[in-house]
Amino acid sequence: MTSEARQLDTTYRAARGRFIDAAARAGAELSSFPHPLAGVEGEELAIDVAQLGDPHAPNALLLISATHGVEGYAGSALQSWWLDERAAQLGGDIRVVVVHGFNPVGFSWVRRVNEDNVDLNRNFVDWTAPPTNEAYGEIADLLVPLSWTDETQSTSTGALLEVAGKIGLDQFQQVVSGGQYDHPTGIFHGGSGPVWSHRWLVEHLADLVAPSTRAGVIDLHTGLGDWGHGELISHEATGSPGYNRSAEWWGDVRSMQSGQSVSAALSGDWLGAINTMLPGVELTSAALEYGTVDVISVLQALRADAWLHAHGDPTGDEAPAIRAQVRAAFADDDPAWLAKITERFAEVSDAALAALAR
Ligand SMILES: [Zn+2]
Repeated sequence: MTSEARQLDTTYRAARGRFIDAAARAGAELSSFPHPLAGVEGEELAIDVAQLGDPHAPNALLLISATHGVEGYAGSALQSWWLDERAAQLGGDIRVVVVHGFNPVGFSWVRRVNEDNVDLNRNFVDWTAPPTNEAYGEIADLLVPLSWTDETQSTSTGALLEVAGKIGLDQFQQVVSGGQYDHPTGIFHGGSGPVWSHRWLVEHLADLVAPSTRAGVIDLHTGLGDWGHGELISHEATGSPGYNRSAEWWGDVRSMQSGQSVSAALSGDWLGAINTMLPGVELTSAALEYGTVDVISVLQALRADAWLHAHGDPTGDEAPAIRAQVRAAFADDDPAWLAKITERFAEVSDAALAALAR
């Protein structure tokens, strides 16, 4: 396959097939963990894991796609690219673990959330005392109105822009996207307990990383930032050992805790929870977040999607247009975008492997 012919897949089934073929060509050991639900085309859904390199290596690099479902169209393409273009160069004491389709339901149904309308990266909280976000409640009905006509879109959007003007855009982003736990049909909902993908991670992560004692983790995202730009985001505060390591590996890493990132400081991201799942492993992790369209277009797509699944018919006439809107907010079919994000992914993954080789 030449690089000019590369393009994003348009279905989960195609992306998964491409990944499995690339894993086989690279000589990876492949394991599949089926999801109990079927996809939008009735296809089987699974988390697929390709492992390369010496299984006893002391260093591991994890590459994860589709934490946010639809963001997997880009993430999957990058993982398949890595298997085709980089796997053969893997050095002796490093293993690479490629996790495809962490949230396979969202991937297939072209949603950022999972089968429970849950944002997987708001789900890793302390469930004995989940965070509160009362300000979200005040605009919940504006964000996801009962009907989604031209008129309700226009009036609710106008009212939301008024709120944003009053509290400022940064605070508005924090309230809307920081995570909320009281509105299960809303957006950025964290759930009411650990969801399927969360439980899968708890059950399998330690096995996937063992016996390595040093690991790098790159979680692939899209939808925030300038078009094609790939920002590395750390869940750790600047000055912490984990943050400092990530800065040594990659240079410019933005801490969302310290307010430097395109992302709001959020509660319940999975990267922020894995230290406790991997005792004795020195972890260096970051989300790699690629920009697509502007934040308002992304928000409108997420509102439409939440409305469709809360009050509309996800298999009805309105669904394809909304799915297309969501896909356009999180994946760009322009080959120039794919070339740009691939170049950045090469830089970031090469730097991680070089650091692990030291
Ligand atoms: Zn994301």
